[in-house]
Amino acid sequence: MQQKRGVLFVLSGPSGVGKGTLKKMLLDEFKDQVLDSISATTRKPREGEEPGREYFFISRQDFLDRIANNDFLEYAEFSGNMYGTPKSYVYSLLEQGINVIAEIDVQGALQMFERMPDCVSIFIQPPSHEVLEARLRGRATESEEKIVQRLSAAERELSYAMKYRHRIVNNELKLAYEELKRIYLQYTTEANK
Ligand code: 5GP
Repeated sequence: MQQKRGVLFVLSGPSGVGKGTLKKMLLDEFKDQVLDSISATTRKPREGEEPGREYFFISRQDFLDRIANNDFLEYAEFSGNMYGTPKSYVYSLLEQGINVIAEIDVQGALQMFERMPDCVSIFIQPPSHEVLEARLRGRATESEEKIVQRLSAAERELSYAMKYRHRIVNNELKLAYEELKRIYLQYTTEANK
């Protein structure tokens, strides 16, 4: 019998919107079915991050070499750093029937929609600009300059929300997660395929 292919979920939204938390909740609840796509980045690790777990942290030169080798499904420069989704890793999971969730920025997502038109795209929105700014500042892991850069990127990102198949407003985490789970099950439950 042929192995059923996994489903690729693409998750975007401005920094500080809570998409990382929502993704983690989904990964925890459906451990045996869905895996995180681990990206490569030129950004420095944040405290608590480990190489190969959150990201593969690589130099800019390595990143450029990998672009030249066509190793990425998509890549983008975001807030002064490069981020890319390794192609072979994602393909091999999907072929094994494992669902994959890729948390990527909007520039990368647009490339992904071209290359993987069957992907299920979900955009996470903040309830308001003020809430987003408060959450970003509350995180306090970044310099003021980086926070301002991320806020202006957030404004740009929000204008792309309509290009996604689904949008979720993260006002209350529990409700936002229920919505994410409903979308996940809609595409992965046998009866709905
Ligand atoms: P952070 O530096 O906070 O971990 O991530 C910053 C942004 O980069 C987030 O919006 C995240 O979604 C995006 N990002 C992470 N990995 C990738 C990737 O592989 N490709 C693209 N295009 N964006 C990514």
